[in-house]
Amino acid sequence: SMFGKNRAGNLSTIPDKCVKECNVAILGCKGSGKSALLVKFLTKRFISEYDPNLEDTYTSEDIVDQQPVILKIMDTADQEEPANMERYLNWANAFLVVYSIDNRRSFEVCHQYLESLCQCTKALHQERPIILLGNKLDMERYRQVSKSDGITMASKYGCLFFEVSACLDYDCVQHVFHEVVREIKKA
Ligand code: GDP
Ligand code: MG
Repeated sequence: SMFGKNRAGNLSTIPDKCVKECNVAILGCKGSGKSALLVKFLTKRFISEYDPNLEDTYTSEDIVDQQPVILKIMDTADQEEPANMERYLNWANAFLVVYSIDNRRSFEVCHQYLESLCQCTKALHQERPIILLGNKLDMERYRQVSKSDGITMASKYGCLFFEVSACLDYDCVQHVFHEVVREIKKA
């Protein structure tokens, strides 16, 4: 595999073909906390200021359900709405679609992403797991999107659904990324 040479750490003794590679794209409107969630997952830290236009792919080795995986995560930076979906569809095995529970508009943008993903995957005759994620759960006081609205939209598109906060519990954020891996393995 393309990672064989550079792989360091505890997975280095495991033959490449045994390690599942999962490509995950994080989508959602600007400001929903995509980068903060990714940084939290990778470093266990909340970074409050992150270049909003930065788009990059990060690699993380992890153990999920006692099995090693290589998670490649694309942090995207669409400006206002879905754009260039082909680019993500050509690469990703699964999608995390993120909104902020204190911002109704970010939820509407997720609707556009889900609709767009749904149409593209239908055209390709391929299923790709999608997880709908409400972020900024610490902003409960300013909530504009109810949990039941999230659940309803997720079930309409056949997605798993979670609410988390990039600045609270690490385990909840890690759980979401591990669920993505489990969904990819099932698909
Ligand atoms: P992105 O454009 O989707 O990548 O969003 P960022 O990760 O850059 O986050 C946008 C803003 O929301 C930043 O000011 C972050 O500090 C803030 N933010 C991100 N996640 C959370 C969260 O869970 N809770 C709160 N209160 N703020 C967050
Ligand atoms: Mg960002």
